[in-house]
Amino acid sequence: MSETEQVIALSEQEEAIRDLTRRISDQDLAPIADELDRKEEFAHSVFKKLGEAGLLGIVIPEEFGGSAGSFLSAVLIMEELARNCGGTALSFGAHAFIGTYNLFKFANPEQRKKYLPDLCSGKTFGAFALTEPENGSDAMGLQTRAEKRGAKYILNGAKTFITNGSIADTFVVFARTGDAGARGISAFIVERSSPGFASGKPMEKMGMRASPTTELYFDNCEVPAENLLGQEGQGGYFALEGLDMERTLFSGLPIGLMQGALDVALKYSVERKQFGQKIGSFQLVQSMVADMGMKLFVSRLLAYSAARKLQEGKRATLNASYSKLFASESSVASTLDAIQILGGYGYIREFKVERLMRDAKLVEIGGGTSQIQRLIIAREIYRSNGLEL
Ligand SMILES: Cc1cc2nc3c(=O)[nH]c(=O)nc-3n(C[C@H](O)[C@H](O)[C@H](O)COP(=O)(O)OP(=O)(O)OC[C@H]3O[C@@H](n4cnc5c(N)ncnc54)[C@H](O)[C@@H]3O)c2cc1C
Repeated sequence: MSETEQVIALSEQEEAIRDLTRRISDQDLAPIADELDRKEEFAHSVFKKLGEAGLLGIVIPEEFGGSAGSFLSAVLIMEELARNCGGTALSFGAHAFIGTYNLFKFANPEQRKKYLPDLCSGKTFGAFALTEPENGSDAMGLQTRAEKRGAKYILNGAKTFITNGSIADTFVVFARTGDAGARGISAFIVERSSPGFASGKPMEKMGMRASPTTELYFDNCEVPAENLLGQEGQGGYFALEGLDMERTLFSGLPIGLMQGALDVALKYSVERKQFGQKIGSFQLVQSMVADMGMKLFVSRLLAYSAARKLQEGKRATLNASYSKLFASESSVASTLDAIQILGGYGYIREFKVERLMRDAKLVEIGGGTSQIQRLIIAREIYRSNGLEL
């Protein structure tokens, strides 16, 4: 039992899901992870296995084809995938959490019945399209427009940095149906086959190269009126409401990167000798190992506690932002420490840790940057102390 589990116990189902994902990750993902990164390829074979294992619909109820797993089990899946390949974990999360769980949460019974079984089995793939070329952190200022004409909405505009943009079949898309601000935004389910929809070429990235990221274009794109999620004007609320879940579950990604980096660094530090001694016996190397272990432990406590709060239906905004911020910044620091422990070999591709470091940098940007997390955290601290700014 890990130290974290002594504080936050896993259920039998959570342990089983973690072990199942660990097997798939070590047997099917680890051997191809370097090649996926080098060639910027998506792990189709691994996603097939994840679908067969029932993991693609992890947090969706069984009646819609999901596995009814807990939020904590979803964090564990992210950890196990990211330990070997951050990009595969990113695409998994974009599909299972922000693409599929958000659709489940805000859809009506007909929409759930129509889209969820295929998304859960992996027959179709999901994505979430909020960010625009001119609106990232200021997401509620988005400019893509949706106009109702008869039984259809006509969408015009563009999205950018969309994970799974080139491979997804079903997109949760946010567009403006009303005035400026969050209340003028609506959310839609957009199918790839919609007339007027196109996705761009995958963008070349520093890391997360196994996860395709593209622009999306809406040129008089026709979306049936029944694909509106909720009511007109609720989209901004949906986008914000989904963020605590997104930040909590995606925290598993930097945690997995840290675990992967620590595993490599530990093994290397007992094999490599300098000055006639194992480098792990040098106290300055131990100092880096100690920091890595501490950051991993605290990141897990923050992520697991946020996941449990969400499961109990409690407000988890502060906990989720603590978790997202601490785990993402820790993963950049820890993967850099792992490179340092490996010395020159850490800088060489074959030794994996430079890839984990490139993957880690994204986590400080996506899902709300570190600066935005600090703004949220400060706001929540003032709020919880009953103080107004
Ligand atoms: C690989 C990748 C995958 C992604 N996947 C998705 C996806 O699937 N769906 C999706 O919708 N989006 C996705 N994104 C977009 C991501 O969420 C945005 O990049 C992120 O929110 C930041 O927006 P931006 O890039 O426009 O930066 P900007 O908002 O332009 O920020 C630039 C800088 O200014 C700072 N800044 C901005 N506002 C403030 C402020 N008020 N106070 C202090 N500092 C501020 C930021 O912290 C940052 O340092 C992805 C991005 C990447 C790179």
